[in-house]
Formats: sequence, C-alpha cells, structure tokens
Amino acid sequence: MVLRDKATVVTGAGSGMGRATARLFAERGARVAVVDLDGDAAAETAATIEADDGDGAAVPVTADVSDPEDVASFVERTVEEFGRIDVLHNNAGVPQESTPVEDVTERTWDRIQDVNLKSAFLGAKYAVPHMREGGGGVILNTASTAGIRPRTGLSAYAASKGGMITLTKQLAHELAADGIRVNAICPVATDTDMLPEFAGGDLSVDGMAETIPLGRLAEPGDIASAAAFLASEEASMVTGTALEVDGGRDI
Ligand code: ADP
Repeated sequence: MVLRDKATVVTGAGSGMGRATARLFAERGARVAVVDLDGDAAAETAATIEADDGDGAAVPVTADVSDPEDVASFVERTVEEFGRIDVLHNNAGVPQESTPVEDVTERTWDRIQDVNLKSAFLGAKYAVPHMREGGGGVILNTASTAGIRPRTGLSAYAASKGGMITLTKQLAHELAADGIRVNAICPVATDTDMLPEFAGGDLSVDGMAETIPLGRLAEPGDIASAAAFLASEEASMVTGTALEVDGGRDI
C-alpha cells in the first residue's frame, strides 16, 4: 500500500498502459482521477477500479490533454475531489504511422507535439502550484525509447518523446527545491491498441518484438510497475531520470 491515500491523476487512463497504471495505483491505495479523451473508456477504467477489492478510488474525467482549458479543469476537479494532488502522470499520447519525413503533414506534426509534449507542459503548469502548496509531489511523463534511439519513419513521434525527456530533466531541476520529483518512463514497443498503428513500411509488430533482447514486447503491467515505483516514496531520491523499460534493447 505504498500509495495509500495519494491523490493521483493518470491521463490516457482509458486504455493500455494508462489503464494498467491507474489500476495499479488504486490497488496500492491511491485515489485516481482517470483522465481520457474517450469518456466511456475513462468510465470503464474507473468502474473496474471501484469494483476491485482494495482501498483505492477512482473518478472518471473526460478531457483533451492538449487543450489548456481541459487540463486546468481536470487539475481543479482532482483537487475538488481529493483535496490535493500528489501525483500527476502525463501519459496520454498518440502514435505516428511510420512515414517518410517528406510525407508527414504539418497538421500531423502539430497534433503529435500537442498531445504528446505540450500536454506535459500544461499538466505541470496547472498542477505545480497545488503540489507546492501541499509541500511536494511527483510528476511522471510517458516518453519512449523512440525519444532516445531514432527509428526510421517516426520523426514527429520521436521528436515529441525526446522533448518529453528533456522537459522532464528541466522540470526536475527547476522543481527540486519544492520537493517535486519529475521522472520519465521510456517504454519499448508495448502490447497496447496503439502498437499496430506504428507499423508501416518495413516496420511490423513481429519485427519490433524481434529487436528486443528479452524476446517479447512490453506488457502494460511492466510500464505500470515502473510508474508505481517512481510515484512512491521508495523512489524519493530519484528525480530527472528517464527509466527505460525496454527489455535490454540497445540499438
Ligand atoms: P498506450 O497505452 O500504448 O499509450 P493506447 O492507445 O492503448 O496506447 O492508450 C492511449 C490512450 O490515450 C487512449 O485511451 C486514448 O483515448 C488516450 N488519448 C489519446 N489522445 C488523447 C488526448 N488528446 N487527451 C486525452 N487522452 C488521449
């Protein structure tokens, strides 16, 4: 119960690694604002948490993480519901279909940066004052191994995730004196609804698994475990890191 009574927010929690993380946070005692653009999916995650045995609780919130008003309002809603905000996990994201750079539209580029990167800036902007008031907090950002090691055809996505790692390090530095830890998680190819959307050109889902030395894709639970550790006091000396959950992939 290392997250007992923690007031947490997980974005993109209607599916995949966000859903697994919201459930694990709750299983470890947290109250979770389950944020997703897809309101039905958020409600489903929250209902699952409420149905699970345990002390956790969940509130579903429909929001677009790239919209400043939506972000301000899910932060306010969390504070209204739980009285404070201890953990913000900026996890919602969109994939990029493998595409040569000259065929990437400006619209695609902008949408990927807005959902994958600007969202984390907005989340910090609105949550930090509450964390400061509460004496500290934790921000987690879902990046990707694609933000570290380039992969052909993912220019917009890789740039957004590289930006996420740099933003994490910057905020960790800036907010350390306030007792706010900021860390990123870099999943390798993870078995979620998003994964097939990366395929294209010479990139296939089977091909992705073959590049991972441990011989399998990551599961949403692998990412949730890393998030639960970083969110907890067990990680109280860890800030500014980009934790690779990558099965040993070294290329
Ligand atoms: P993964 O877990 O690999 O990130 P999923 O596609 O399973 O992939 O989950 C991503 C989640 O993020 C989905 O539930 C999706 O609805 C959500 N999402 C995507 N864009 C936004 C957005 N702009 N605002 C909030 N949630 C979003």
